[in-house]
Amino acid sequence: MSISFGLNANLLYSDVLDLISEGICQVSLDGKILYVNRAVEELTGARKEDIAGRNISELKFPDFSEQCSQRLSSAVKLAEAGKTAEPFTLSEKGSTLSVSPVTDTTAVVFILRNITEKMHIQGLLKEKRQLLDGVFESIQDGVSVLSEDLNIRYVNVVMNNWYSSNLPLEGKKCYEVYHNRNEVCYPCPTIRCLKTGKTEKDVIPGPSGSHVEWIELFSYPIRDSSTGKVSGVVEFVRDITERKKMELELVRAKEKAEESDRLKSAFLANMSHEIRTPMNGILGFAELLKEPELSGERQNYYIDIIEKSGQRMLGVINDIIDISKIESGEIKISKKELNLYEVVKDVYDFFKPEAEAKGISLLMNDRTDDPEILITTDGDKFYSILANLVKNAVKYTDDGFVRIGFYRKGNTVELFVRDTGIGISEDRQQVIFRRFVQADISDRTARPGAGLGLAIARAYVEILGGDIRLESKEGEGSTFSVILPVS
Ligand code: ADP
Repeated sequence: MSISFGLNANLLYSDVLDLISEGICQVSLDGKILYVNRAVEELTGARKEDIAGRNISELKFPDFSEQCSQRLSSAVKLAEAGKTAEPFTLSEKGSTLSVSPVTDTTAVVFILRNITEKMHIQGLLKEKRQLLDGVFESIQDGVSVLSEDLNIRYVNVVMNNWYSSNLPLEGKKCYEVYHNRNEVCYPCPTIRCLKTGKTEKDVIPGPSGSHVEWIELFSYPIRDSSTGKVSGVVEFVRDITERKKMELELVRAKEKAEESDRLKSAFLANMSHEIRTPMNGILGFAELLKEPELSGERQNYYIDIIEKSGQRMLGVINDIIDISKIESGEIKISKKELNLYEVVKDVYDFFKPEAEAKGISLLMNDRTDDPEILITTDGDKFYSILANLVKNAVKYTDDGFVRIGFYRKGNTVELFVRDTGIGISEDRQQVIFRRFVQADISDRTARPGAGLGLAIARAYVEILGGDIRLESKEGEGSTFSVILPVS
């Protein structure tokens, strides 16, 4: 350091040194103070003239103890031994002094700074930072601080945990981190906040790849205290995934309740028709039976109608009982081994006369087509499934045929009921399996039915661990297939 050595004699240089706020003290290697500037007067409370020529160990600093001049002396001794002393700071009586020694072969120059104020401010800043950290970390919401150019400057633990990566998020652009993008995302309240300088908020999708699906983002502007310009944004981010899910569930539940309500009203309207028609048949023809002159043939004919009407009513009542049992989860199953051919034959025999009366053929596998297929299942439910499908096939077919088939496929049996009837349009193929649905179709081809048969069949198939499928083309016919486990 050539500047300070020997320049104590230079008047101009000395004036300059007096203007510097740091104290400068030049000491010869034998400990004699060669030069001090004006700032040293402030630190020691002594006049320059009184200090020069004294030994460094005699230099007193009122804000510090003896220790201060002792450490300066030791630094000089080190320099004398050809070693360089390290800079140090001394904190005593609430004041802090920083000392940087510069040595060379002939002298040591100490640069002395009273950094009490600086330390105080730093302490305050640290305290404030700790307080803020404490607040941010205890908040249950995610908090991030962004600079004006969208660099992340701070994120709290809550937000950090939303990301699987352990890398620090600070220093990256928010859109890279939050949404894996290369450019800003729109619409984002933070972008709006930077533009408008006002608090903005929005519900937007959560960060990509995190379990947080929906967030409510509040963006508050940070203003530069001197210019008033927006210099960044604080984001408060609330995870509202659960709330959003609940809202969606509520909407769905409401829609479902409304639909159920609508279907039930339509069902009741249809049901009164379904009950009144056979009831009118029964009462009307019972009345006619009273006629004393009635021929035996007529009598039989009326009794036949009364019987059929009664059966139709019983069918409706049974369906209602079945569907309410299904809905209340009261269905019990009791499995036993059945011969598939025999069950199908029973259903076939039951519907054969009805099909013949309509002039359509009812067909089924021949006994010799298949070896004995045995299936362990609930016989009543199985019969009910098949009977429902065959009943519909016969009901909705005016000419052609209805075929019942079955075969074994690995550990399952597949049954199908194919008809050449009116078919089902594509948009109705899903809904007809829902209960009461027929009742809700206003322009349906008028055929009796409560709209419960397929809902019951599907529920039973599912209870038995199987699957029901439909293939159909309007005007050409339908095939309902049922796949059930063998045991
Ligand atoms: P429904 O008592 O009205 O027959 P289902 O639940 O058995 O009630 O059937 C629901 C609706 O599905 C019927 O109203 C009918 O429109 C349609 N459907 C069922 N089976 C057939 C079929 N084989 N051919 C044409 N349409 C059918």
